[in-house]
Parts: sequence; structure tokens; C-alpha cells
Amino acid sequence: MVSHRCLQKTYSSQLPSLSVILIFMNEALSIIQRAITSIINRTPSRLLKEIILVDDFSSNGELKANLDEHIKLYNQKYPGLLKIVRHTKRQGLAQARNTGREAATAEVVAILDAHIEVNAGWAEPILARIQEDHTVIVSPVFDNIHFDTFELEKYALAVDGFNWELWCRYDSLPKAWIDLDDVTAPMKSPSIMGILAANRLFLGKIGSVDGGMLVYGGENVELSLRVWQCGGRIEVLPCSRIAHLERHHKPYALELTFAMRRNALRAAEIWMDEYKYMVYLAWNIPLQIKNSLNENDCLDRGPITGKTPIMYSCNEYSPQKVYYHLTGELYVGLIAEAVAEDNCLTDPGSGENPTLEPCSKAAQNGLHIYWDFKPVSCVLFKG
Ligand code: UDP
Ligand code: MN
Repeated sequence: MVSHRCLQKTYSSQLPSLSVILIFMNEALSIIQRAITSIINRTPSRLLKEIILVDDFSSNGELKANLDEHIKLYNQKYPGLLKIVRHTKRQGLAQARNTGREAATAEVVAILDAHIEVNAGWAEPILARIQEDHTVIVSPVFDNIHFDTFELEKYALAVDGFNWELWCRYDSLPKAWIDLDDVTAPMKSPSIMGILAANRLFLGKIGSVDGGMLVYGGENVELSLRVWQCGGRIEVLPCSRIAHLERHHKPYALELTFAMRRNALRAAEIWMDEYKYMVYLAWNIPLQIKNSLNENDCLDRGPITGKTPIMYSCNEYSPQKVYYHLTGELYVGLIAEAVAEDNCLTDPGSGENPTLEPCSKAAQNGLHIYWDFKPVSCVLFKG
């Protein structure tokens, strides 16, 4: 799984100490044990100062006295290694990460979900890189543990980016890194996916994770925008691999959209100045192009492969994200990303129904793409 070039690397014998933080809310006890076991087995004991469990107010019975009993047993074998902090009310993932950082005492913290297993040699690259530069926030490389078979699936190397919803996604490798021709070299990354490792004091100094992010989401991009603007940097370390189990469902909320949107807007308001409107737009806020004849019907991009816009019952999904530009263009199903072109509502000029055409092509070919709104009944073509 881990590249042999990574395993061949040698590191200083004087690496900083490490606190590993595992946050959870209603995790299976066996999963937490797998995480702890992998950390103990795959981290040099002289470097591993402690493992701190943060319980974000779980209700599962086995996570109470039963878990405490297991912690006692680990500590009999490895004195002082396991600690647990329990929230007395639900505080959400950002605050759970902060609770862990505040309880930690080692020079470096790795703040992880509790449903992970670390891979061989995961810790040394993190500790060596942060020792070299204490302003680096590390994003390890993810692999996937299938929740139903526990099979390990290796993920391709990527950097951690985000879209206009400020939601995470994998982006392609930087050319500068490819040109280095060294699969062990750190990679500059726009963002983190969620889990991270950092110098404990540096992370505290720049404000840790934003505890005002509620429930789930947004905290990773907020931290990333802050790190890059406040004298730090983010790197993916290809030799540091952590396998993450994506659960079948999230036990803390049935519907996460509200928290995700609210947290994304919080990050946008804090950091994005005039670009924050792109984030509002991506979340379809405010919804202004209302069909005054029937407010339940919205203009919709239609089937993704088609060029035919349709009227469809209003929902909040991206095919209905419509942007009416000041100069009159109507962008439909907004994407606004470098790799994909946005479509403009176009009048073929033949009396036929409007079509969707890539905006740049429509402009180049002089198609009719400027629209005017007349009050009361209908949209009229302008020019
Ligand atoms: N989490 C938490 N409190 C919450 C929501 C999430 O402590 O209210 C924890 C959760 O237990 C997990 C981490 O935050 O360890 C990330 O959440 P999850 O694994 O559900 O998200 P994913 O990794 O699938 O994006
Ligand atoms: Mn997770």
C-alpha cells in the first residue's frame, strides 16, 4: 500500500513527540479499538506520547463503562497512553477537534476521525516535516476502508481542493511536484479534507479550528483559507497514508445540508470579500428569479446531456442555479469552475424554444443571449 520508496526513507532520531486525537460520536467500540491498535502498532513508541479520545456526547451504551474498561486495560499495558475527554452536550466536529487539541501535550497533534486505521510509516513523515517547518499543516493521504467488508481500497494521490460551495474535492497533482520526480516529496495543497496534523502551538496560535462551525462541514476550508493567509501552508504528504471508513450513514443528523450551507457561508463571510457572492450563488441564495406565474415551477438545466432547458418543480439542486447577469445573460445550472463551461439561455432566433449553449460559444457566434424581464407575465427576448 505504501510506496516502497517511502518505506526506504530514513528519518532523524530526534523527531518531535506526537499526540493522536480520535474524535467520535456513536462509533462502534470495535472500530475505535481497530484505530487504537493500528496507531500503537504503526507508530514508534518513543514518538507516541498519548492517544486522546474525544467523545462528542455519544449515546451508545458500549461507549460508556465498557470503553472506560478498555482504556484501563490499554493503560495497564502502556501506562498513561490513553486518555478520554467527554463532552457533556453535543458540540459538533469542529469543537470536538479543538477539545482534543486543548487536552494534548505533545509537540505535534494528529487530529483524526475515530474510524481510521493508520498505515505503516504514517507518523515519521509528518513529524519530520513539521520539525523542519512548524507552520506546515499536514493533510495525510486517504485510502478507503469499505464499511461492509473492511477491504482496503487504495486511493490515487491528489491534492485537497474545494468547489464554490466550499465543499471538498480531490484536485489534480501540481505540475511542480510531478517535475520533481520524487513520490516522497511533500505536495502543496489548497485545503485539507478534514483530518490533519500540525504543530500544536502553531495551530493554537492561528486560532485552531473554528468552533463556531456547527455539526459538520466548512471547518476544513475555513482553516485552509486562514492558514494560507496567516503565514502557514498546507501540504499533502504522500508517504503518510491513513485509511478512513466512510460510514453507511452519519449517526448525528439525518439531513446535513443546513449545517453545510450555513458553515460554508460563515467561511465565505469571513474570508472571501467580493468572492463571497460566488458561494451564495453556489448554494442558490437568494433565489431571485422567480416565475411570477407559478412560483413552484423553476427554470432548470434539464437532463445533463441535453441542450434543452425545461420548467421543473422548484428544488435546491444545482441544475436550477440560475444567474441573471447585469448585462443580460442568463447562466443556467451554474458550475463556474475552470474545467467545465457554463451554459447560457439562448434564443435560436427562429421562433423555436430557447436552448442552452456554452456561454463563450454563444458570445463568439453572436447568438441571442441577452434577456430582459418584463413585469407581470413573461420573459421577453431583448437583443
Ligand atoms: N463528529 C462529531 N460530532 C458531530 C459530528 C461529527 O464528533 O456532531 C465527528 C465524527 O464522529 C467523525 C468526524 O467528526 O469522527 C467527521 O465526521 P464523519 O466521519 O461523519 O464525516 P466524513 O468523514 O464522512 O466526512
Ligand atoms: Mn469520517
